[in-house]
Amino acid sequence: MKLEDYRGIAEQGDIRAIESMAAKLKGRTMLHVNSTAEGGGVAELLQRIVPLFKDLGINVRWEVMQGTKPFFEVTKGLHNSLQGKGMHITKEMWDEYESVNRANAERIDTDADCVIIHDPQPAMFIEKKRRGIWFWRCHIDISSPDPITWYFLKNIVERYDGSIFSVANFAQSVSIPQFMMQPSIDPLANKNIELSEEEVKGTFERFNLPTDKPILLQVSRFDPFKDPLGVIDAYRLVKKYHDCRLVLAGGTATDDPEGDRVLQEVREKAGGDPDIHLLLLPPFSDREINALQRGSTIVLQKSTREGFGLVVAEALWKKKPVIGGDVGGIPLQIVEGVTGFLVHSAEGAAYRIRQLLENPDKSRHMGEAAKEHIRRNFLVTRNVKNYLALWIAMERKEQVIYI
Ligand code: UDP
Repeated sequence: MKLEDYRGIAEQGDIRAIESMAAKLKGRTMLHVNSTAEGGGVAELLQRIVPLFKDLGINVRWEVMQGTKPFFEVTKGLHNSLQGKGMHITKEMWDEYESVNRANAERIDTDADCVIIHDPQPAMFIEKKRRGIWFWRCHIDISSPDPITWYFLKNIVERYDGSIFSVANFAQSVSIPQFMMQPSIDPLANKNIELSEEEVKGTFERFNLPTDKPILLQVSRFDPFKDPLGVIDAYRLVKKYHDCRLVLAGGTATDDPEGDRVLQEVREKAGGDPDIHLLLLPPFSDREINALQRGSTIVLQKSTREGFGLVVAEALWKKKPVIGGDVGGIPLQIVEGVTGFLVHSAEGAAYRIRQLLENPDKSRHMGEAAKEHIRRNFLVTRNVKNYLALWIAMERKEQVIYI
């Protein structure tokens, strides 16, 4: 991946800013540390941005910490506890966390000018700081954590030079500088790259999805907070007035028994309606998701609780108006009445779906605005720009930083 590949796609100002900042940082060293090489949004982001930093002449490394099974059980608990799921981290768990962190920090060369430690798993690497600017980059919502867990983690986090959160609402108050860096999508990844009409058509055929009627689509894990049952309610309300199909596409994580239960409930609620299509996607269905989003008429993301909800950005990028729940990062992506609509109920979703189905011109205009909104604000180049700007500004000890 090269910066040049994004010319003509990403915001020109971003490309210029990246070039001029990268020229100042040429040959300098940068290190990213996280806990998994693949799977999950953080690894996906790093897979895209690390080659870009390299292309810019930055001497970048990406290191993945190695954990034991008990360690990953602890960090899963930590994750849940920080997201307010009523879990405590015991003394034994902290001990495991500390010893695995120390062993990894010993093994990995942490000497760099700019070090970015992603999420709580490797947070204790800060103990090994000798020089450079160190950021703790938090990708999860820690606004209502278990207080004891947060007390311990906060003591670690406050040793960093700066903290970076995805959205203000997800952050905690800390004594070190705090920055906001919204997530992004990569327009050149399989999930988002332009596809030929034949490929889109071929995908619909392979899934046995006729394109004879407008298609409503929601792509998400079968999770109660994604509200697939509410989506079916909305579809049924619309169906009284407009003949349409509903596609619910998603996977269930193998370690998630709840997913199977939700899927069963969805099946029962669909009740054999031939116009409701449940697609169980295997992992790595990026191109298929891309094609489904491109071939649909309206995309829904009717979540009742959400992280950032990057699937919204993916659909908006494909010029689809999105009707989404007013939660998590969705309202940052859906500009009400411009790139889509925010809804709070099945009735509200149905009302907006009908409005768009009855006004194809409006829907088209919204789709255009949607793509532009994502182009300006949510492409991966903006993330690269953010990191470079933060690095330079922190080194210069600037008081006010705009990223
Ligand atoms: N996704 C996927 N397969 C699925 C369902 C979703 O690859 O079966 C992708 C989707 O395209 C998006 C991501 O997983 O890129 C979901 O991220 P989001 O932030 O929307 O929700 P999360 O599942 O992380 O709560």
